[in-house]
Amino acid sequence: MKMFLAGRWVEGSQKTEVTNPFDASVIDTAPKAGAADVEAALAGAVAGAAEMRRTTGYQRYQILHRASELMRERTDELGRIISQEEGKTLAEGRGEAQRATETIELSAEEAKRITGEVLPLDGASAGAGKLGFTLRVPCGVVVAITPFNFPLNLVCHKVGPALAAGNAVVCKPASDTPLSALRLTEILLEAGLPPAGIACVTGSGGTIGDALVRDPRVRKISFTGSRDVGEKLCRTAGLKRVTMELGSNSPLVVMHDADLAKVARATVATGYGNAGQVCISTQRVIVMDKVYDEFLDVLRPQVQALRAGDQLDPQTQMGPMVREADARRVEDWIRDAKSAGARVLVGGRRQGTLFEPTLVADVRPDMRISCDELFGPAVAVTRAKDIDEAIRLANDTNYGLSAGIFTQDIDWAIRFAREVESGNIHINWGPGWRADLMPYGGLKESGMGKEGPKYAIAEMTETKTVVIHGG
Ligand code: NAP
Repeated sequence: MKMFLAGRWVEGSQKTEVTNPFDASVIDTAPKAGAADVEAALAGAVAGAAEMRRTTGYQRYQILHRASELMRERTDELGRIISQEEGKTLAEGRGEAQRATETIELSAEEAKRITGEVLPLDGASAGAGKLGFTLRVPCGVVVAITPFNFPLNLVCHKVGPALAAGNAVVCKPASDTPLSALRLTEILLEAGLPPAGIACVTGSGGTIGDALVRDPRVRKISFTGSRDVGEKLCRTAGLKRVTMELGSNSPLVVMHDADLAKVARATVATGYGNAGQVCISTQRVIVMDKVYDEFLDVLRPQVQALRAGDQLDPQTQMGPMVREADARRVEDWIRDAKSAGARVLVGGRRQGTLFEPTLVADVRPDMRISCDELFGPAVAVTRAKDIDEAIRLANDTNYGLSAGIFTQDIDWAIRFAREVESGNIHINWGPGWRADLMPYGGLKESGMGKEGPKYAIAEMTETKTVVIHGG
């Protein structure tokens, strides 16, 4: 594949191989951008922003709507690209392609609804006889930096709203998974997007990130990725608008009145999807003493039954991790927990990038598999004696992206929603759930700002206040 910048497809002077995480086979190559490519992309985006600003909401709706139709026609192809480069199963890849289509469709719809407000100026002593309103305008150049784990949908969550709002967007996908973003770029151009409206620059974030983020021509940075890279970007960005969608170690609280069969289903669905490489994956399950052993008995066979392997085999239920180094890290953290007294009830072993679906009991909050972001296919179970301790443990983290509770007691559910410091709260399901239209983003070190096309558009636009002074 080539990358796309300043309105044309470019080879780049160097290439990287894009590999299948399961067997390291080469799927394709992508250019490694350098400083000159970043400069060309940003200069092109400045011109693109001027052109995009002149388009009407209806024109942007038509382009994005057409793109969503093309994506829908190509769901299987997009799903396969996602699975191949990221390692998620074919079913998960297809599911992501469907969600990405919806994200672009939602962005198209929102392009028609961008509006300001009329200001009641006569409510101020100075305002009599004046008419005031706000105009919502695009930011201009938006830089979108995305992670590997949802290589299409998370790109759509930035590119869709940026374009819907009338910006030009420079996208920098993760080095491990650039193919989905490049394919999306082709589709947007085919749908009629002005070529200067988008750039897709591939290459190492560590090499080109600073140049993209520091540049004063960029008005808005939208980043999804790890906490540490996010913090670095904020320091580098200077006076710019930023949205940060960062990591988490999401808790799920199980009260003694919960339906344990349903909890086990939710734990499997939200703890092991995409081999646990989901920012809202269920990582810490905090279970009431009274039902602790019974819950483990119900959950254990379901984790044991998960079939891990080649993600392109339709029988596989859980694919490999994206990189062997990450699988090794998960192995180390689980070994550390075991030597500190935790019990590995299922799994715990690794073969290359493939890490067994793993269940660890008797985990203490200070163990790394509990207090750090694991981002792998293991769930850590911890005891609690009551709702107070459960809420305290749920909040005992720097992160705050998503949290869940299972209970039939409405008072506990409401307390949980009010007192747990998390951007998303789920009652009677695991934390790993998202509808693409909802406001979605973290508290604490999980970031700032919201995504979901309507909310991302608010963050990718700015308002001007206009006052008409009567005679
Ligand atoms: P990552 O290592 O932080 O990388 C994310 C992106 O940042 C990649 O495109 C990466 O490029 C780029 N990057 C790295 N260093 C950079 C720098 N110095 N300047 C500019 N860009 C730089 O994260 P990841 O491993 O891909 O993804 C996993 C993380 O993302 C987890 O922490 C997960 O929780 C988080 N995440 C959060 C959400 C959310 O919605 N809150 C959603 C999904 C994932 P390279 O690939 O070239 O290094």
